[in-house]
Amino acid sequence: KKITPKKDTYVIASDSAFAPFEFQNSSNEYVGIDVDLLKRAAELQGFNIEFKFIGFSAAVQAVEGNQADGMIAGMTITDERKNSFDFSNAYFQSGIQIAVKKDNTSIKSYEDLKGKTVGAKVGTESADFLAANKDKYGFKVKNYDAADQLYEAVKVGAVDAIMDDYPVIGYAISQGQELATPIAKESGGEYGFAVKKGQNSELIDMFNEALAEMKRTGEYDQIVNKYISNGS
Ligand code: GLN
Repeated sequence: KKITPKKDTYVIASDSAFAPFEFQNSSNEYVGIDVDLLKRAAELQGFNIEFKFIGFSAAVQAVEGNQADGMIAGMTITDERKNSFDFSNAYFQSGIQIAVKKDNTSIKSYEDLKGKTVGAKVGTESADFLAANKDKYGFKVKNYDAADQLYEAVKVGAVDAIMDDYPVIGYAISQGQELATPIAKESGGEYGFAVKKGQNSELIDMFNEALAEMKRTGEYDQIVNKYISNGS
């Protein structure tokens, strides 16, 4: 089913670095699962998009402040976010996880984080999880604006551990980053495409229609498998 767009071009906000969902390739072009899915959805449904890769928290604010029509940024569908956003059907099953330096053998459970500092990206599900659990386990939290700062912080020892979405940590490890994930991931957490609550509902409808079509034709799997090898 084809839905009629109501705008010439929809401005879509996204993260600045969240590989393999959005990241710059060696030619400095933004690629990734989110980018490819939304570009293909726009082709299938016949609407135009203009991406703005501004960072996760900035994207949230851009949509809330009407500077963007929608966002796709590996954004977890949560009840709290449903107060200010409308989400598409879930398009990816994720979860959050702690990562430490590969040679760190002293952290094997959340209890081992006592007295340590754990980093996350500002405004994310991981940052919320750490804030909610820091007193229980006795760790400190340090928030970073972007992924490069976060991953650099654990590399140089500015933090003892970081928390991020597990497919993103897995991708970083597959790209040669020396990290380990000694604590089981927190399950749950599905990604959705989002618009400001009550606005641009046709955009959600078009995304859902295109997502169903891409799942039916196998294009969805092709896009995911292009960036995530089977089993990882
Ligand atoms: N899935 C996480 C969230 O929604 C992180 C998203 C991101 O960092 N781009 O908070």
